[in-house]
This record gives sequence, structure tokens and C-alpha cells, in this order.
Amino acid sequence: MHKLTIHPSKILREDNTFFNTIALIVASSVLYVLNSKMQPSGQMAVFWPMNAIMVGLFCRFSFFNKAYYYLILFISLIFWNGIQGSVSAGSTLIALSNVCSIMMLANSILFEREPASQILKINALRLYSYCLITALICSILGAYGFSLESQGQYWSIYPVWFSEQFSTSVLILPFLLTCNGRFLPQKFAFSQVMPVCLLLVTLVLSGCSGVVGSLSVTLPALIWCALSYTLPTTCLITLLAGGLEVLMVDTQWLHFGGNEHLIQIISARMGISSIAISPVIVAVSVQSINTLVKQLSARANYDYLTRVHSRFGLYEKLKIREQKSASTLLNVLLLDIDHFKTINDTHGHDCGDNVLSAFALRVKEIVGEQGIVARMGGEEFAVVLPDATDDNGFLLAEEIRADIEKMEVPWGGEHLTLTVSIGVSHGEAPHKEVVDAFDKLLSEADQYLYQSKNLGRNRTSAAPSVMTKHLAYTAH
Ligand code: GH3
Ligand code: MG
Ligand code: MG
Repeated sequence: MHKLTIHPSKILREDNTFFNTIALIVASSVLYVLNSKMQPSGQMAVFWPMNAIMVGLFCRFSFFNKAYYYLILFISLIFWNGIQGSVSAGSTLIALSNVCSIMMLANSILFEREPASQILKINALRLYSYCLITALICSILGAYGFSLESQGQYWSIYPVWFSEQFSTSVLILPFLLTCNGRFLPQKFAFSQVMPVCLLLVTLVLSGCSGVVGSLSVTLPALIWCALSYTLPTTCLITLLAGGLEVLMVDTQWLHFGGNEHLIQIISARMGISSIAISPVIVAVSVQSINTLVKQLSARANYDYLTRVHSRFGLYEKLKIREQKSASTLLNVLLLDIDHFKTINDTHGHDCGDNVLSAFALRVKEIVGEQGIVARMGGEEFAVVLPDATDDNGFLLAEEIRADIEKMEVPWGGEHLTLTVSIGVSHGEAPHKEVVDAFDKLLSEADQYLYQSKNLGRNRTSAAPSVMTKHLAYTAH
């Protein structure tokens, strides 16, 4: 099952207890004051996000998950009750219920962490059920505290309290746990705005219709967002859309029949929570599939033994180049290790593998950023140099050949030496025909490689014009 990956945040340090205590007091105080301001006096809070935000904080900075910090949090809440002049058994029970709910949910989430791993992975459906169970249990205490405070009926308070706690944590937590500050795409395209536009339209439509069932019309748009945007962006959009829907329901924007008002609010909140978790599940799955595709293409594009491009990876690179660049010049070098079979026969296959890796690494170091190195099969490698003159290819081939001749590969107390034969070809690759041009140049380079082998190995061969020019240089 695909999971939400939660990376620990590094803004606060575990060993700085004093600073962490102050940070916790400030955060809980700010949240408490803001939340109380949103609460209509004498009535239950429409939206009490403090608990969910605190759970996010305790999970992202898991060192807060200690009895000491929960005690600080409890004292901070009692202190603010005192400031607001509402120190009573009821308000103390409410504060206790809030701390218990934060502790229970944070511990359930952190329980998913693999031992010895900093990264926490949690299944989105499990997160949903942890929010549900925590809200079901902790609301018993909270609703009782509020019934003492307001002299209200316990059984009419409990469902409202529970549904608020549950829906708020389902909306807020996926965002807080995955938030990495990167919400906008690297490249902007107009088509990317379409899913969020559709979402806005469906939100307006459901708001105008005034019917509670119409809240679900946002679901296709939310799923489209999940398929188009990154996981943190989807979680943010889901939070904003869900928050707006909760607000529309709670402020009676959507009209309900008299006595059924409370039940409608509760059922609407439950529905919004269930709608909100669906795009999160889709976004997590999309993220997992994308990671898998990246891993698979990395495996196909690179040769496992030598870590240079595979033949497939080289063609993929050339195809990308074909799309991007105008007409270009190409140099193709085909390299074949001399008498490689003897290395295998004398020292064994493992030694042969070791020599192949050392050879590929050396060639890659020499070529650097100038071109692409690929293993074409067995002990045969290709180097492709774009935008280079015929001289460049020949000179690079000679540099590689001379370097390999001097290279020593340690094996079982011995220092093995090897040589390489190279064929070089050069030609033009017209726009959109880079792959075809490469195929032709590869077969030409193969002929020159054959020539190098026939002439005694450990040499470079190229077109007669290039060879003559080079011989003229060396003769001087
Ligand atoms: P030449 O100078 O004519 O190129 O001779 P050679 O021995 O290098 O060429 P040949 O084609 O006769 O032998 C190539 C050998 O490379 C045969 C094969 O077993 C070995 N080989 C191919 N792939 C691998 C590999 O991944 N690991 C090891 N250890 N050997 C490999
Ligand atoms: Mg060979
Ligand atoms: Mg060969």
C-alpha cells in the first residue's frame, strides 16, 4: 500500500530544551488565543484546529513527544483558561481532553516509524482511522467538560465535538505532515490551472445550490488536482476546499430543515472528511508510481556493472537531443578492450568484471562533460561527442588509449594492465535525425575498430583524411 512519507523537520534541535519549551508555549498560546477568538461565546467551536496543528508539530519534531512537553502544553492551556477567567472543572477537563487527543494521535502516527529510521511513512487510510479513533475516544472527555461548562445535554454535545475533531484533523494533518514548502511547479503551463479552476467552479456551485449532498460534486475536481499536482499541493488544496465546505455548512450557508440541523452538520462533516482523504490517497499513489518509474528508468538507462549509460540509455539521450537541438556535428568513438577473454580465462570472471568497471570509470573521467559514455555490450563501449570537430574525436580517442595503456588494475596482489583498440567516425547529424546519423556513424566506427584490431590492436583508426592530418602532426 502506498504511504505518505514524512521527513523530520530540522528547524528546531532536540538538545535545546529551553528554547523548545519556549517555542511550544508560544505556539500553543498563539493557537489557543486564535482558536478562542473563532469560537462564538458560550458555544462550541466551529473549527478548533489547535489540536491537529499540535499533532503535526509533535510528529515533524518527534523529540517533543515526551511527558515533559505534554505537561508544558497542559499548563499553558490551563494558564490561558485562567487569563480568560474560566478556571473550572469543565474547562480543565476540556484542556485535558485536548492534550490527550494530541498525545494519542501523535503517538499513533509516530508508532508507524521504523526503528532506527528518521523518515516516517504512514498509510493515508491508517491516518484517517487514527483520526477517527482519537476523536471518538477523546471527545468523551471534551464533550463532558463542555456539558459541565454550558450545562448542555451531553448526548447532543458529543457528536458535534467528535465530528469537529475528526474532520479538522483529517483536513489538516496530511498537509502538515507532507508540507515541504514547494507548492508551485518549476515550469508554469496554463493547462495546469484547469483542475483548480474546476474545483473553484464546483465549490461555488455547491455553495449556491444550498444542498448538503452537493458537497460531493467537488470530488472529481479534487481527484483531477491529485493527478496533476504534487502531494503537498494536493493536501493544501484539499485542506482549503474542505475548510471552506465545513465553514459553509457550519454557518448554515447550506440550508437544513429545523430540528435536523445538528445531524446534518455532523453528517456533512463526516462526508467532507471522507471526500478529503480520497485525493490524498490518489496523490500518494501517483507519487509512488512516479518514484517507481524513475527508479525503473534509471535501471534501464544505466549499466548495472559499470555505471555508465546502457545502450538503451544512450539512445534515450540521443532522442532527447534530437528533439531539442538543431543540426549538429557528432563524433562517435567505439572502444573494445584487447584480448579481454584472456583476462577472464586467466584470473576469472570476477576479475574481468572488476577490470570492466575500472576501465569504464577511467573513460568516464577522461571524457567528463564533453560527451556521453555507454556500454554497448560485453567489453565494447561507445563515446559520443556532440558539437566537436573530427580532430577532437581522434585526439580524445588517443588520450583514452594512451591512458588505458598506463592504467594498472590491482587484483589478488598483482597489477593487471590492458590496452584498448578504438575506431572513430565523424559526421553531421541533421535536425530530427540524430539517432539515424548516430547509427550510421556507429557502423562506420565499427569498421575503423576492426581496422585497429587487424593492424595489431592498441591503436586508433579513423577516416584517411583524419589519419593523414594526425600523422602529419606527429611527424613534425
Ligand atoms: P579482441 O582483442 O579481439 O577484442 O579479443 P577479446 O578477447 O577482447 O574479445 P572476445 O569477443 O573474444 O571476448 C570478449 C569476452 O568478454 C568474452 C566474454 O566472456 C567477456 N565478457 C563479456 N561480458 C562480460 C562481463 O560482463 N563480464 C566479464 N567478466 N566478461 C565479459
Ligand atoms: Mg575485445
Ligand atoms: Mg568485443
